[in-house]
Amino acid sequence: MKHRSTLRQLKAENRLQPATIVNYNPFPLKVEAGALITFTVPGRKEGEEFAYITITEPKFAFPFKGVISAANGTENVNDYDVLPVLPIQQAMEFFKVYMESTQDMSGGVMGGVLIFEGTIAELGKKNAEVRVPFLEILEDGSAFVSTKTRKLDELRNEALTAQRAHCMAKIQQANDFFTDPAKQKNIVSEHRMYAKLALTENWITALPAWVQSQVNPDDLCPKCHAQTRPTDYMCGNCGKVFDPIVAYQEGDIEYGHVSFQKLTAEEWKTVKKIKAERDKARGGE
Ligand SMILES: [Zn+2]
Repeated sequence: MKHRSTLRQLKAENRLQPATIVNYNPFPLKVEAGALITFTVPGRKEGEEFAYITITEPKFAFPFKGVISAANGTENVNDYDVLPVLPIQQAMEFFKVYMESTQDMSGGVMGGVLIFEGTIAELGKKNAEVRVPFLEILEDGSAFVSTKTRKLDELRNEALTAQRAHCMAKIQQANDFFTDPAKQKNIVSEHRMYAKLALTENWITALPAWVQSQVNPDDLCPKCHAQTRPTDYMCGNCGKVFDPIVAYQEGDIEYGHVSFQKLTAEEWKTVKKIKAERDKARGGE
């Protein structure tokens, strides 16, 4: 029952304030910090500015303190401490993962996450100031979660600035992949999602070419893995011929090209016919 008295005490001290997590990213975020803190914050939907959750309940951890021996020595009782994890402290776990931990090779954070004490109503207020948690480290090296007051507009700018940097880094990465046929397969849905986000936010003026090019493994050149179109009769990158008849007809390869080795008897007739017509045309000059 220890945690009930702790709960009463928190309420009495006015420390049980709700905490809000705002997600500007178009995908859900999930954090698991031990067994205690597991949250999923939904992703921002198309046409919306953000998604959010508000945490209202504390969670309780029960660290083991030891064994109390009864005075008469007949009975031992396990003793547990009660450690409340306030809503804002839970939200801080989110902040740590998405705004403080590096998420990519370039050392950037993912960004787009905002946490503060209070409900989502704060975000609609002009010049709102909110309390945010931070880890205060004492001279002896111990640390505890403290709060400070910040301007909500500034916090939002920090979240969006970090998000934009991460988004543009992802787009740049895909641009680089796209220039190298062997690496185009590294362009994944995450890159496309960030390209669409950048367009929505006017960070770019048009979608990059690689967004449209859905990489279908069947469309990759078997020789060099460059992206090709189903209608291509040869690879524009390495020159591998997919359809020798059309390639010959178009004058891209000569009669007897190595790709002719795979022609069927019927196809040989076709190329011989084309050659005969050409020889005839040439002879008639
Ligand atoms: Zn090729």
